[in-house]
Amino acid sequence: MSIATPELRIDDRVKEFVAPPRKLLINGQWVESASGKTFPTFNPATGEILAHVAEGEKEDIDKAVHAARTAFDQGPWRQMTTSERGKLIWKLADLIEAHLEEFAQLETLDNGKPLTVARVADVPLAIDLFRYMAGWTTKLEGNTIPISVPFTPDAQYHAYTLREPVGVVGQIIPWNFPLLMAAWKLGPALAAGCTIVLKPAEQTPLSAIRLGELICEAGFPDGVVNIITGYGESAGGTLAAHPQVNKVAFTGSTEVGKLILNAASHDLKKVSLELGGKSPNIVCKDADLDIGIPGVASGIFFNHGQCCCAGSRLFVEKGIFDEVVDGVAQHAQHITIGPGLDPNTDMGPLVSDEQQQRVLGYLESGFSEGAEAVVGGKKVGEQGYFVEPTVLVNTKPDMKIIREEIFGPVVCAIPFQDVEEVIPAANDSIYGLASAVWTKDIGKAHRIAAAMRAGTVWINCYNIFDAALPFGGYKQSGWGREMGHAALDLYTEVKSVCAKLS
Ligand code: NAP
Ligand code: MG
Repeated sequence: MSIATPELRIDDRVKEFVAPPRKLLINGQWVESASGKTFPTFNPATGEILAHVAEGEKEDIDKAVHAARTAFDQGPWRQMTTSERGKLIWKLADLIEAHLEEFAQLETLDNGKPLTVARVADVPLAIDLFRYMAGWTTKLEGNTIPISVPFTPDAQYHAYTLREPVGVVGQIIPWNFPLLMAAWKLGPALAAGCTIVLKPAEQTPLSAIRLGELICEAGFPDGVVNIITGYGESAGGTLAAHPQVNKVAFTGSTEVGKLILNAASHDLKKVSLELGGKSPNIVCKDADLDIGIPGVASGIFFNHGQCCCAGSRLFVEKGIFDEVVDGVAQHAQHITIGPGLDPNTDMGPLVSDEQQQRVLGYLESGFSEGAEAVVGGKKVGEQGYFVEPTVLVNTKPDMKIIREEIFGPVVCAIPFQDVEEVIPAANDSIYGLASAVWTKDIGKAHRIAAAMRAGTVWINCYNIFDAALPFGGYKQSGWGREMGHAALDLYTEVKSVCAKLS
């Protein structure tokens, strides 16, 4: 591992954007919080304050939900043709594309990720998601259904279904892919015709605020999208429990997902959850290690391991264990750590002081129980929240580092004897978000894919995402699927209409 030398360059537009305290978007207007309070967001590469944003609380959420409710019940949004709705979403995608560099820099400054990654992954994937969802507005069809009603055999009926928007949606998102998570949430909700109150993560509110500006510029009617920055318990908790909200969509930790569920249960809101993971990455003896080793390394180190689908449990078949572990460790050693704005940086800081402490706490726990680091295992430097990419061995199935989500650049390598042994071991988790298998045997690959209790299985690849491909979790990794047409199910109700033909 080497430390990049900073060579930082920030566009003037980004500097201007972060200079004034940023406000809340309620009913098409940028307003201060009701209390007038703001909170800081930090640059994780330095630990310094980057910007101040309005601290939305109960009163602000109430106003935003009221705006969304009015926009849904009375506004022009519901009267708009599906084609017009699609054009607006497409226009938003075009505007993001026109500001791609600005978004990438904001993402890097606020979250810490390398600018080179934000430019080619976060922002383009968000654009693509909006374009994909724009196409769905005109295709949300119902069915005509032949029915035979046994207790009125002589009558004739004309029956059909309509797919309608679920209503006002509260969306709460995390900090690991701030813009992309906003897109995953907003895209299908807008395509379905819902109105929205979005609460970004306190650590990374900036790209959502900038997105709000472009939503206004695109011409979405007032109140269709409202953005409330604030803290989880106050702003997020109020939103999840709000009686005028019809549905809550959440991405984040499993622990908070359960709190969301409790908050939403009072009036039985619809809930979708995209939660944590502890994804198994299985390397078989017959794998092509030239692609497998770099694939395994990027499966855990991409986004500094702060991915819900990070391949954090590495199962390697006996016979190639040392070769794979050494190969991944060598990759880790060649990762250049530094500020995300530095073009030489491969890995930036973790998102926050708290996240750095969490990851270091997990490492300490692993070491105290007998795990050993082949590479890494420590924090880097005194400024910013950097942690070394780490490969651990000598783990046991009941250790915390094997059972719990670390959400950092830490992979645990575990040897296995054969496929029969690895399948139950890989599935031995409360989570079931993603998984991967590396093998040249296509039959074996699909047998393992079928046996995985996980929402995604990658074969000879990792972290392949597409707006058209559903993503979500089995078990405690969540409820529902994002992306693909499955995402529209989260934001629509099916109405049956039945008419008696006289
Ligand atoms: P988190 O607490 O689950 O936060 C996710 C979102 O939920 C944030 O917007 C957060 O607000 C909000 N929130 C927190 N408490 C809430 C509550 N009681 N009611 C309503 N909303 C609430 O995640 P985190 O603290 O940032 O990270 C902790 C761990 O979560 C990570 O180490 C990782 O294991 C997991 N995580 C998973 C994902 C994922 O993509 N599945 C993403 C991020 C984190 P504020 O943060 O603004 O307070
Ligand atoms: Mg920040």
